[in-house]
Amino acid sequence: MEITEVKVFPRVQGNKKLRAYVTVTFDDAFVVRNVKVIEGNKGLFVAMPSRKVQKPCSRCRRSNTIMARFCNYCGVALEASRYGDSYDRQQETKDIAHPINQEFRAYMEKKVLDAYDEEVKNNPHQEPDAGSVVHEEDIQPS
Ligand SMILES: [Zn+2]
Repeated sequence: MEITEVKVFPRVQGNKKLRAYVTVTFDDAFVVRNVKVIEGNKGLFVAMPSRKVQKPCSRCRRSNTIMARFCNYCGVALEASRYGDSYDRQQETKDIAHPINQEFRAYMEKKVLDAYDEEVKNNPHQEPDAGSVVHEEDIQPS
């Protein structure tokens, strides 16, 4: 399988660690949105689209975040997270779509980060700029 297109939408405000949203096309036939370029401690990395893991309330059945100790809706105490005290933030979200082997993961990461570098190089005005206010509509894809 090949990645045939990578569209990068840089973010310049809000969550500083989130550098860009990316849309990836596979074999000119399948599109995955909400891939993210994130600045981590060891540099940029690619995060797969993910959703928040939720747990249902035992009384009203509505979904609460995995971290919630009381139901957001009816206030009943919720069971402790099954992850226990050694809870890791990364377990708060689950990938929706992701590569299942290291080879494709590396290929995809390179494609996405190359496209991100290219985008930033070609559009330096989208880099964070102290003192200037950038509005959401200014950074929409053209
Ligand atoms: Zn409830």
